[in-house]
Amino acid sequence: MHFFRDDSHIHRISASLAAEVSVVCQRCMQAMPISISSQFELGIVWTEAQAKALPRELDSVILGEEPLDLFPLIEDELIIETPFTNFHPVGDCQPAGPVAYGEEQPETAEERDNPFAVLKDLKSSD
Ligand SMILES: [Zn+2]
Repeated sequence: MHFFRDDSHIHRISASLAAEVSVVCQRCMQAMPISISSQFELGIVWTEAQAKALPRELDSVILGEEPLDLFPLIEDELIIETPFTNFHPVGDCQPAGPVAYGEEQPETAEERDNPFAVLKDLKSSD
């Protein structure tokens, strides 16, 4: 984030954000990481009238008595840029498999289909 006064003496924040966040795949309901980024230009003002007078390309931030808290500002921008629905690429989903409530799954089938079964073997070897 860059903080400066431009040639028109407007107090500005020029920001470029990049973040890796974890969202839920809407097909398999498993977590998936996505990269999101955002660029925005803010004009810092103290009154509504000043906000209305800002150039069109600037979003206004009206300062009150308190110092500007940047974290909610950044959080809001990242939320806006996060897609509402997310899906793994086709074929990359990790389905949990059918759940038979109240019944034991045959262990061999479960072990074979479970991509994390190898981790269990590693853990038991030490
Ligand atoms: Zn998925």
